[in-house]
Amino acid sequence: MPLLSRLSTRGYRQAQSRSCRSHICERTRARYQASRSFCGGPLVITLGRMLRKGLGSSCLLWTPELAVSLTTGSTTSFHLQPVNVRHQILLNWAKSYLSPLRQSAKALEQLVASVWVKTSPTIGPILGFPRVPIHGKPGKGFDYSFLQFPPGPEPEIVETDVVIVGSGCGGGVCAKNLAEAGHRVIVVDKAYHWGPEHLPMTERDSGIHLFANGGIESADDSSISVIAGQAWGGGGTINWSASLQTQGYVRKEWADQGMPFFTSSAFQDSLDRVCHRMGVSTEFVEQNINNSTLSEGARKLGYSYKMVPQNTGGNKHYCGYCTLGCGAAEKQGPVVSFLPDAENSGAHFIEGFEAQNVIFENIEGKKTATGVKGRWISRDSSGGVSGTDRTTREVIIKAKRIFVSAGTLQSPLLLQRSGLVNHQIGRNLHLHPVVLLSAIYPGQPPINPWEGAILTTVVDEFQNLDGQGHGAKLECMTMLPSWVLPFQIWGGALDWKLLCSKLPYMTSHIVLVRDRESGRVHPDPVDGKCRIAYTPSAFDKRHAMEGLLALARIAYIQGAKEIFTTTIGFPPFIRSDDAALKENGDGINDPTFQSWLAEVRKAGLNPPATGWGSAHQMGTCRMAASPKAGVVDPKGKVWGVDCLYVADASVFPSASGVNPMVTNMAISDWISRGVAKDLSGGADIGERARL
Ligand SMILES: Cc1cc2nc3c(=O)[nH]c(=O)nc-3n(C[C@H](O)[C@H](O)[C@H](O)COP(=O)(O)OP(=O)(O)OC[C@H]3O[C@@H](n4cnc5c(N)ncnc54)[C@H](O)[C@@H]3O)c2cc1C
Repeated sequence: MPLLSRLSTRGYRQAQSRSCRSHICERTRARYQASRSFCGGPLVITLGRMLRKGLGSSCLLWTPELAVSLTTGSTTSFHLQPVNVRHQILLNWAKSYLSPLRQSAKALEQLVASVWVKTSPTIGPILGFPRVPIHGKPGKGFDYSFLQFPPGPEPEIVETDVVIVGSGCGGGVCAKNLAEAGHRVIVVDKAYHWGPEHLPMTERDSGIHLFANGGIESADDSSISVIAGQAWGGGGTINWSASLQTQGYVRKEWADQGMPFFTSSAFQDSLDRVCHRMGVSTEFVEQNINNSTLSEGARKLGYSYKMVPQNTGGNKHYCGYCTLGCGAAEKQGPVVSFLPDAENSGAHFIEGFEAQNVIFENIEGKKTATGVKGRWISRDSSGGVSGTDRTTREVIIKAKRIFVSAGTLQSPLLLQRSGLVNHQIGRNLHLHPVVLLSAIYPGQPPINPWEGAILTTVVDEFQNLDGQGHGAKLECMTMLPSWVLPFQIWGGALDWKLLCSKLPYMTSHIVLVRDRESGRVHPDPVDGKCRIAYTPSAFDKRHAMEGLLALARIAYIQGAKEIFTTTIGFPPFIRSDDAALKENGDGINDPTFQSWLAEVRKAGLNPPATGWGSAHQMGTCRMAASPKAGVVDPKGKVWGVDCLYVADASVFPSASGVNPMVTNMAISDWISRGVAKDLSGGADIGERARL
């Protein structure tokens, strides 16, 4: 490998992170000038894509101006209408029988709510929400080095044994295994590394620097918002530490599809190995109020529940801000564990490198992957990513083995951009669709639900509702304002802000469904970016409903005063006389509560009226026993191509049913150990070093 200058992040320590300039096509930019003028900032531009999809895909001639004129008879554009008229227009659109109007109302409400919560200088102080966690302590991160390239007209060419696209949960594990086996490894990621001195980021900056597409990828029909990490360390940098191993019934389902590895002890070894490296355990878990409400409510109702192991390296880690990155460096995501191990064994890293396509050659009559081409953009001279003095360079990395670990949303797009045509690529998108239930517990002092580890309890009573392993789990939601408030029902500006003011007294829980039906990922015809075709199915919605009703019962039995679903127009349950209900011992049999539950069931969970979200994407490069059924073979190699592997959550044969990080890491462990052995001429990891 030609020697390139290596720049340590040490020099960036004091550098301030700056907003990167999101780009958006001119057409969209012009169309949403109005949104930008009343909200400002790149968040709006990024989220504006969501609006474009909501409007554009529904009706070719659709514009906000046309919608306003059709619904009000006025020819004045939306943004020029007085505030009270804009307000009324949104309320009317939300109830409209026209689906594009309902979708537009939803997109606009969430857009504005999210921007407002993220940028308001007053909301934090009013809620008593501190900018940094009161239980967090600053920690020391790993001192990464990243390859740097000089400017130049020609592509820089680098040679290595293995190139891994994506530094996330799959890519990180592969990097460690392959580097420790003695192979030359380069990991590239389009995101940049922000060490603990930058973390937890503000809610505003995190959307720009730590998440894909500003924080939300909206489905084509606005029925569900998908959230994915885009950071050095991928989703492992911003996730919630829940470290559950793959359950037996899912392993059996996958093994029965011709992949016996999943029921082998080798897979269990992989699960245990990755958990061991991250110090996964329940030993030091202290339940915060959100989690103890869930477990205690479940206990009182006789529901099965358990504690969720945490990847916090044997530390208590009672912080609560993990979604914004771990300033304590205690969460053992790839940035703290697998990637440092890889660098210590000689791996090289490139941040700011967006892989454009895989390069193929015909070797002995076989299509063979021989490299990756991408575009590298350096930091600016002050260590930020928004200055004008950044270097852009085409880089080609030639390698003996190519790993695509760009995540479920991006890996299939990279394969398609590279010219692969297996029709399974991008299909079989499985999510764990989620609906939210919130409850208010008034009293003094406030419960400040954002304090403490986010997800330490799971209720698994409803995980197998069809006898085939499909159902719902009940878990906790992060209680950061910008993650909870924009998803609460918007029934008008004042109502919503009053609801926001109750956050210090609120708990929020999620119903997480193991979906049976699937969707697909496809490139946007305008800019090639990720588009998601997914609508929660009737089958999966039924399971979500059972979970939601259970969550409402849990909130009730725990003494909630108000209970909210996220279905627009659906009234909350307001408890009238707490004391009397306690005395008569009816508990959840309270007739008023029962009739509210019946109404919840009747109203259903139909998007876009009901808000759906998902942070777990799986399956778009499905592993299968034949190329007709999937994209990669049981060893992770892309069918029909030599030397090209996928190792991330996109290879799951179906939804994992548990939070996917550990399953993904274990599969990636298996795939990369296989490749390491193959490259070493059959020697296992460790053996080669001894030879
Ligand atoms: C808010 C949130 C909380 C979560 N909490 C949990 C939890 O508690 N427990 C759990 O088990 N799971 C959790 N998850 C899910 C888990 O983090 C993901 O399933 C996991 O990170 C997926 O790993 P991956 O390897 O598939 O991709 P990722 O970890 O997403 O990594 C993919 C990487 O590829 C990079 N990339 C993409 N395209 C390119 C390209 N063209 N060129 C270069 N780089 C590229 C991205 O920047 C990214 O860093 C959570 C997810 C989110 C969003």
